[in-house]
Amino acid sequence: MEKITPAYDDIHAIIKDTYTKISEFNPDVIIAISGGGLIPARIMRTYVNKPLFTVGFQLYDKDDKIMPNIKKTQWLDDEIIKEYIHNKTVLIVDEVDDTRTTLFHCVEELKKCCSPKNIIVTVIHNKLKQKKHLLANDIIYVPGTETGDEWIVYPWDCK
Ligand code: 5GP
Repeated sequence: MEKITPAYDDIHAIIKDTYTKISEFNPDVIIAISGGGLIPARIMRTYVNKPLFTVGFQLYDKDDKIMPNIKKTQWLDDEIIKEYIHNKTVLIVDEVDDTRTTLFHCVEELKKCCSPKNIIVTVIHNKLKQKKHLLANDIIYVPGTETGDEWIVYPWDCK
């Protein structure tokens, strides 16, 4: 598989640009999907300046093999849900939309447990490929940029 290696500055610029596209929706809170969404969500917080919480899902096993079912590894505390998520506009941040499995499950879990008012989904890269899931029509989806089906080596992936 082809690899691309975007530079940190390019990523920061993409996130800044994504913010200009989502700012009209006035997010109340940011949710980072761990681990790839952590650094992008923190960069996004520089612009959005709202509370940032983290959820976690695992789709690949320790040998980097895709698992038959996605596993929820971290979720939101009830008090946090009541104060920051319920009836609020939630901005979900991850680094890449590949098969869309992670984003889909995150959105479904949020809808099920927390009744947010609006959900905005952003990623740095959306891979233009067949997705395994569709996001519902009421989800505001704003990818930073689009790429082919290549492997993205982020600055934080480099040893
Ligand atoms: P999904 O298939 O659910 O859209 O993506 C699952 C996860 O796989 C992503 O959150 C990310 O951690 C990882 N992933 C998928 N494609 C890439 C890639 O090109 N580069 C990196 N670094 N991670 C990826």
